[in-house]
Amino acid sequence: MSFNKDRRSFLSKSALAGAGLLAAPSLSWGQGLVDAKERTSQLSAPSDLKITDVKCAYSGGGLFVKISTNQGLVGWGEAVDAIGGTYHMVQRMGNQLAARGVSPLNPNAIFQQFRSNPFGGTQSGVAVAVMSAFDTALWDLMGKALGVPVYQLLGGKFRDKVRVYCDTQLYSVRNPKPEEFAKVARVAIDKGYTAVKFDLDEANDPARYDRVNWTASLGEMERMYNSMEAVRKEIGPHLDICCDMHARYDAPTGRKVAKMMEPLNLMWLEEPVPAENVEVYKTISQETSTPICAGENIYLTYGFTRLLAEGAVDYVMPDLQKCGGLGEGLRIASLANSYYTPFSPHMVGSFLGAMASAHVCAAVPNFHILEWQSQFDTLPKWKEIVKYEGHDKPFIDEKGFLPVLNKPGIGVDINEEGLKKYATPGIPFFA
Ligand SMILES: [Mg+2]
Repeated sequence: MSFNKDRRSFLSKSALAGAGLLAAPSLSWGQGLVDAKERTSQLSAPSDLKITDVKCAYSGGGLFVKISTNQGLVGWGEAVDAIGGTYHMVQRMGNQLAARGVSPLNPNAIFQQFRSNPFGGTQSGVAVAVMSAFDTALWDLMGKALGVPVYQLLGGKFRDKVRVYCDTQLYSVRNPKPEEFAKVARVAIDKGYTAVKFDLDEANDPARYDRVNWTASLGEMERMYNSMEAVRKEIGPHLDICCDMHARYDAPTGRKVAKMMEPLNLMWLEEPVPAENVEVYKTISQETSTPICAGENIYLTYGFTRLLAEGAVDYVMPDLQKCGGLGEGLRIASLANSYYTPFSPHMVGSFLGAMASAHVCAAVPNFHILEWQSQFDTLPKWKEIVKYEGHDKPFIDEKGFLPVLNKPGIGVDINEEGLKKYATPGIPFFA
């Protein structure tokens, strides 16, 4: 007991000393560590902690993984998009850990163990997406076992809250007019967001000449420009706009649209072409002053190496619920930092995925902005499926930032009863 007290005292003084030394009084450096030690009963004996069971559930485009242990601690992880047909993969990978009673306190080693089977598809795609959910749940477990937030395990934090951009999801409207773009942007900005994102690809644009190819006509490009011009006029020169072409167009279209958008001073143009051909990205980036962002469908650090080394993108946007998880997110951010490239994660998961991503965003110097979905503000599902302290408050603060939780682990648990309402039919639910 006296050890714990002394330890707490030491940590408190260290945190204060650190804040003074770095002259950043607004940041509560290490406060999560101090708070966690205060309230953690230390009932768990980390050295004896063993994985006993792994179960999963699916909802919409999300996979939720629950890793249980011999001490009652549970870790939660999430993967998105590349998860179709992965139920049996989760069972097999989970059995590998549970059968041997593996300790969850070595997420990097477990990740590497999965990675060491490239014959099983662990170089990209669904296997890496599933590994992302496992990795996230392991970091969550380790934080809970040691009584510290994940950002602390990742090396501590550079910031208490992370800036987000609001993905406006205007894509649910067929052929929206420029005034609708402006209206939606205004709603987001009035909520406090400092950046908005819109989709430019529109399969139903009557100006399209060909239903199959992705060469945009002059009419389509005019529609794209007019939409973003309306947003810029609505929100003024000091708030940020990104727009996404969803990797659906060809090289000449990407080059033209990037040049056309230059007067609008975008934060970025996202994935004008698929992020597979580095040379094409390099050409587009070199020809335009519009910053280019890519990477939501790129896996592992290796997937980003040439894009960064060739200067083919201005921003990288790995999806931490897909690219390999939190440990790999940290490694991608570090690689990007060595090329002075901002780290701007893609995020289409739940609040569990958002907060998991936020811990990495807090722990890297080159974090720029995190994706946030406007439907978090409007659809009750997103609150119903999670449990966390502060559940009664808005997710985002009044300035459009996401405060990083200081609870042990990620700080967000899945509410199984809530999630069950939205579970994908025909797949066992945590069974
Ligand atoms: Mg995108």
